[in-house]
Amino acid sequence: MRRLPVFFLLDCSESMIGGNLEKLKKGIQKIVTDLRRDPHALETVYISVIAFAGKAKTIVPLIDLISFYPPMLPIGGGTSLGAALRELRQQMETTLKKTTSESKGDWKPIVYLITDGRPTDKVHEEIKIWQEQYANKANFIAISLGHSADMSILHQLTETVILFNDNSQDDFAQFIKWITSSVSAHSQNINQDITSINSYSNVLSFSDAKASQYYDENCVVLVGKCSNVRQPYLIKYTLANNVTDLNHQHKYKLDGCYPVDNEYFDWSDNKNTALLVNTNQLIGAPGCPHCGNNIAFAVCNCGNLLCIDHTGDAICPWCEQQLQFNMDSPDEDFDVIRGKG
Ligand SMILES: [Zn+2]
Ligand SMILES: [Zn+2]
Repeated sequence: MRRLPVFFLLDCSESMIGGNLEKLKKGIQKIVTDLRRDPHALETVYISVIAFAGKAKTIVPLIDLISFYPPMLPIGGGTSLGAALRELRQQMETTLKKTTSESKGDWKPIVYLITDGRPTDKVHEEIKIWQEQYANKANFIAISLGHSADMSILHQLTETVILFNDNSQDDFAQFIKWITSSVSAHSQNINQDITSINSYSNVLSFSDAKASQYYDENCVVLVGKCSNVRQPYLIKYTLANNVTDLNHQHKYKLDGCYPVDNEYFDWSDNKNTALLVNTNQLIGAPGCPHCGNNIAFAVCNCGNLLCIDHTGDAICPWCEQQLQFNMDSPDEDFDVIRGKG
């Protein structure tokens, strides 16, 4: 039986923290569970998962549906789409069976790229290699979660760019169902169009290359470290529509503060970002999700965020200096280093 390889390239950058990453993890599991019930898919479909944030790695090497076990999705700073494409090429070179004079190789693989961000690495070179050497060897579908992905980059990569709009609670389930049905139909008849979005037009639409535009950043993610357990947390703010400050800068409101572990740094690129955000653009300040300190938004002289308790005494978990915060002084606006998303 010829295999139908399906590669998922999943954006696990920090802007995905909160609902999206969890939904994506459950979504992949749901796709596999549903495909197992389809006899054609069960015999032919093989799945691989490549995660990318600041770095890209294969977290599930190409495997049949029965043996597939849902991976933990990592989270990291940065959106290294270039590294993800390189990893995909390498996986295609090493795991796919080519057709020889004696036997038929694998069917042309399907690649689903799911992203909500803009690449932070040098992606143009990788796109060029992909276009010249690999584009005709795979069906590549780029899916933008919401409006903040860089659509022009996605259009350079593939003709098929689909926009997913997550407006109501069931929309993500619809999106996952669409992927399942497109893989399933293709496994039954290899000529079946995998890009058909008929009957999913309430959540999916084709992006028009000419109309693709540059959207405003729709979230800000800041990295802090707990001064007690010394593990990182991510503070996510989302764009508050129609609210601007005196300088007409957009304002962002607190979405949540999420504990992560030190693996976050393994998945982040180490480039120091010069992206700054001023606290007067941010609405709401969280407490620490690790230790319960009620201020997770204290800034050390080293420029990093940490949590502090009501005494204002702390040792910076980033640079180890002894700190004393004046808890009586009014909040002054300050710039903080923000994550890359
Ligand atoms: Zn803490
Ligand atoms: Zn410090």
